[in-house]
Amino acid sequence: MTIEPQQFASDNYAGICPEAWEAMALANAGHARAYGEDGWTLRAADALRTLFEADCESFFVFNGTAANSLALAALCQSYHSVICSAAAHVETDECGAPEFFSNGSKLLVAQSEDGKLTPDAIRALATGRSDIHFPKPRVVTITQPTETGCVYSIEEIRAISALCRELGLKLHMDGARFAHACASLDCSPAELTWKAGVDVLCFGGTKNGMAVGEAVLFFDHALAAEFDYRCKQAGQLASKMRFLAAPWVGMLESGAWLRNAEHGNRCARRLAEGIAYLPGVEPMFPVQSNAVFLSAPDAILEGLRQRGWRFYTFIGGGARFMFAWDTDPARVDALVEDIRVEAQMLYEAA
Ligand SMILES: *Cc1c(COP(=O)(O)O)cnc(C)c1O
Repeated sequence: MTIEPQQFASDNYAGICPEAWEAMALANAGHARAYGEDGWTLRAADALRTLFEADCESFFVFNGTAANSLALAALCQSYHSVICSAAAHVETDECGAPEFFSNGSKLLVAQSEDGKLTPDAIRALATGRSDIHFPKPRVVTITQPTETGCVYSIEEIRAISALCRELGLKLHMDGARFAHACASLDCSPAELTWKAGVDVLCFGGTKNGMAVGEAVLFFDHALAAEFDYRCKQAGQLASKMRFLAAPWVGMLESGAWLRNAEHGNRCARRLAEGIAYLPGVEPMFPVQSNAVFLSAPDAILEGLRQRGWRFYTFIGGGARFMFAWDTDPARVDALVEDIRVEAQMLYEAA
């Protein structure tokens, strides 16, 4: 197999970071109990309680679609509804899994400029109908950072959770890149979640440097009732659970979870700064985490593709670049240089 140059089409192009890899190797030394009754799973749950300064209950599942869908299903009856942004991963990228696992809970989507939900939008959706014919609003889900790389401030989350309490709604957070939000805001996981009124967090491990795995954290034990059965029924109970749990131990105990995210965020800023003031090329959203979405003339994007760069344009409408724990800054500079040359060529042709 040849090793290809780094691409920034997705942060899951990256491999496994050394801290997660080493913990898996340690977990591989001999036998251990199955289905989560092993020492690594206990230690990972403890590490999460320490990190979040809370007696939270955690479950380790294979991916984010399962984490989100099962968490939302746990909060809803089938006749309930879930309020989310129109750009939310649960709406656009989970193939109907939240509706499927909840046996029909409907997603109510709010249009939004930057992918964020606002209290006004939530209130409008939650109070627009209260008759028996409409699915009863039960949960609000926010993505932190959003699918377009924007970060909710603590104040914004508090305002949303206050409204949730007023309206009797639960607050779920899709934290596929939660570590990047903590790094961006320089605040603790506790401040960004339960202290701000979040009931359930899906904490992403994959995009933070693990091979696979997300943790579902319940800050209220009552909401976690029988969640273990839900995971098992959905095919999300790993028999060799230690290999899902050990990477969390490695990442959390070493601090790699935060270092990795800081690095990704830094590389995104590096790209944003590199392309500032180029004619026709502009970030579409504030660069607040490890994502940069560029709007640029088609000729520039086509030129970049011809130079071998891979990127998506189906999310957010622009060219998306995502940076991972192992992004090589020199490779970011190479991308900047290619964008600069393409912009220059277009400018001169005009
Ligand atoms: C990547 C991602 C997920 C998880 O996706 P899976 O492919 O199911 O692991 C969830 N939410 C957001 C916002 C994501 O970017």
